[in-house]
Amino acid sequence: MSTKSTMMDYPLTLTNMVERLSTYYPSVEVVSRMPDKTLHRTNYLAVYKRAKRLASALSKRGVKKGDCVATLMWNHYAHLEAYLGIPIMGGVLHTLNLRLSPEDIAYIANHANDKVLIIDDILLPLYEQFKEDVTFDEVIVVPLTGELVSAEYTDYEDYLKLGDDDFSYPIIDENDAAGMCYTSGTTGKPKGVVYSHRSTVLHSMTEAMVDGLGVSQSDVVTPVVPMFHANAWGLAYTSVLVGAKQVLPGPHLGAESLMDLYEGEQVTLSAGVPTIWMAIKQAREAEPNRWKTTANMRMVVGGAAVPESLLRAFDRFDMKIIQAWGMTETGPLATLGLVKNSLSNLNEEAKYACRIKQGLALPFVDIRIVDEEGVELPWDGKTSGNAELRGPWVTGSYHNNEGADDKFSKDGWLRTGDVCQIDQEGYVKLTDRTKDLVKSGGEWISSVDLENAIMGHPDVLEAAVIAVAHPKWDERPLAVIVVKAGKVVTTDDIRQFLEGKFAKIWLPDAVETIDEIPKTSTGKFMKMSLREQYKDWVWD
Ligand code: AMP
Repeated sequence: MSTKSTMMDYPLTLTNMVERLSTYYPSVEVVSRMPDKTLHRTNYLAVYKRAKRLASALSKRGVKKGDCVATLMWNHYAHLEAYLGIPIMGGVLHTLNLRLSPEDIAYIANHANDKVLIIDDILLPLYEQFKEDVTFDEVIVVPLTGELVSAEYTDYEDYLKLGDDDFSYPIIDENDAAGMCYTSGTTGKPKGVVYSHRSTVLHSMTEAMVDGLGVSQSDVVTPVVPMFHANAWGLAYTSVLVGAKQVLPGPHLGAESLMDLYEGEQVTLSAGVPTIWMAIKQAREAEPNRWKTTANMRMVVGGAAVPESLLRAFDRFDMKIIQAWGMTETGPLATLGLVKNSLSNLNEEAKYACRIKQGLALPFVDIRIVDEEGVELPWDGKTSGNAELRGPWVTGSYHNNEGADDKFSKDGWLRTGDVCQIDQEGYVKLTDRTKDLVKSGGEWISSVDLENAIMGHPDVLEAAVIAVAHPKWDERPLAVIVVKAGKVVTTDDIRQFLEGKFAKIWLPDAVETIDEIPKTSTGKFMKMSLREQYKDWVWD
């Protein structure tokens, strides 16, 4: 007879993580920046009690297992309560992205069949622009400003009073849906990704690992990445799992406000897209002695490639950047750019070369690169291929299976749409999005590598490189830049700056200066819109 495991079949659900808050971490603080910039202070015991009341109230008002409850909120204590309260009653937390157009928000809410909306009072003007197009059973308003909530809506504080303290949890299977997030959709319609309790628990445990982000009870964590962007990269849940203090920036994402929070609350770990850190870099360089942050503060940067100049600058500020790569479809963390112990004797330059890569796949995340026919390519650090992933927090389909035909390989791996190289040590280096590569005279040019190098120029603030049709070469790279106030940077300046760093055919043939690079709803460069803007470009 074959030997059977004697281990219990214990479900990995958020309920267990929520219970730990009251048992082990009741006094740990949750601090939120309010719209008027004051700080709201509460603790995990209060968040726990209110999350349970929210769960109870939702059940009493008819929300059933598997129903989606939408949030349209900034990062703050009430959003955290929704993060916990909705899944523990069997509901699905659906975070709506407040930076999308009203039409897109309505499309997504309808597509997900959201039953209830919980919204910040300061975001009601946004809701009013699409309320005719949606049909929520109830709209619950969080009175962040303290102003009276209009009678047509339900006041969140009143709603919590409907709930009972002794809410008893329903039976939840670890594979039940817990949360939902739509892709930011740079092409086509946004698609829904549905996280399970299991995927969320496993993602949190892996993120907390010392060789993950090393999140522990002694950390003070500030997700600047919005809670509507891939669950704030899991940090809200990971902090709950380990009992780390959370400091949430509310609607104030400007460099000064964030630096004040980091200093005032002695934040040890923060996370966001590169555009946030570029603003912080400028603020710190302008006033080097103004803020004192904790020693060895960690900054997780992802969502777009991290320019080397940013890594170096933050090392000077004693704020260590850790690059993360992932997507809404992947929990979101897939790889982390940490230097392996076996490479610790590399010299400084080689370490930077390692840290600008997207890093090593996390445990249980399988990665491969393939060619156009799906044939696997070698891990030699030179060959580029389409990156494909699979793992317990990688989506295997989209909500309602829509628009996903080309997103999965025949054997079920997720096609990321990113083009990568992988070296013999296993480091992933993202060279481009499939659609952003520049194909010049049959050669592929990486727009990401060029952008990152150009952003190292002392007078350049932002740079995006796009492919523009060319009569002879098929496509050639055009660099679109934003320069520092009062500076002028020419095509020749940039070409000279890049010379020696790249093959000659890579150098952009033209450099255009504009006031601001258009950004997506999650703060990334919107190259699609630049391509549109420059589609009739005529080369000299
Ligand atoms: P999203 O689903 O909005 O999180 O977007 C995911 C996409 O962002 C990925 O497929 C990548 O193209 C890009 N991305 C995320 N992290 C990085 C990174 N560290 N470096 C380069 N691109 C990244």
